[in-house]
Amino acid sequence: MKRYDAIKRIVDSLDNEIIVCNIGAPSRELYNIKDRAENFYMLGSMGLASSIAFGIAISKPSRKIWCIDGDGSLLMNLGSLSTIANNQPNNLTLIVIDNGSYGSTGNQKTYTSKKTKLEIIAKGAGFESITVIDDEEDIIPVLKDITSGCHFIKIKVLPGNAQVENIPLNPEEIKHRFMKSILM
Ligand SMILES: [Mg+2]
Repeated sequence: MKRYDAIKRIVDSLDNEIIVCNIGAPSRELYNIKDRAENFYMLGSMGLASSIAFGIAISKPSRKIWCIDGDGSLLMNLGSLSTIANNQPNNLTLIVIDNGSYGSTGNQKTYTSKKTKLEIIAKGAGFESITVIDDEEDIIPVLKDITSGCHFIKIKVLPGNAQVENIPLNPEEIKHRFMKSILM
């Protein structure tokens, strides 16, 4: 499975969750699989998808938030794991798609392709549950099973980006459309 396949399964599991998606290829792939106003395509701040998702989670406690992050990005902002886990939002699932590489910049290897295990770091940070998925078929059942809480899911995938169009929205359009959609 590649990232695109994983995001497709995540989209197939959606009810009305808010999605905050990591910069670059993941956001482009999500846009092309299923664009919706409740998708926040984080375009300018590598590493900060989980922090933005956490902020939304605590300010919108009645909504479920899924953050689609990447291994390279999360490695840039590991402190976010302890911030999230210690504040324990009841409505946040951090889904890290780990391809062991910086996919958007040419698949240079990250440390998760060597010794680092993000699920162990997340467990130590204090997440309520940790799930590692290797099989594409497990993604929908795992996501459908989430009710409330503060969860960490790692989906292990192979490197590689889908050939998809760029997102034709500018950052202001994405932000305003997104904010309007989550006010309801
Ligand atoms: Mg990656």
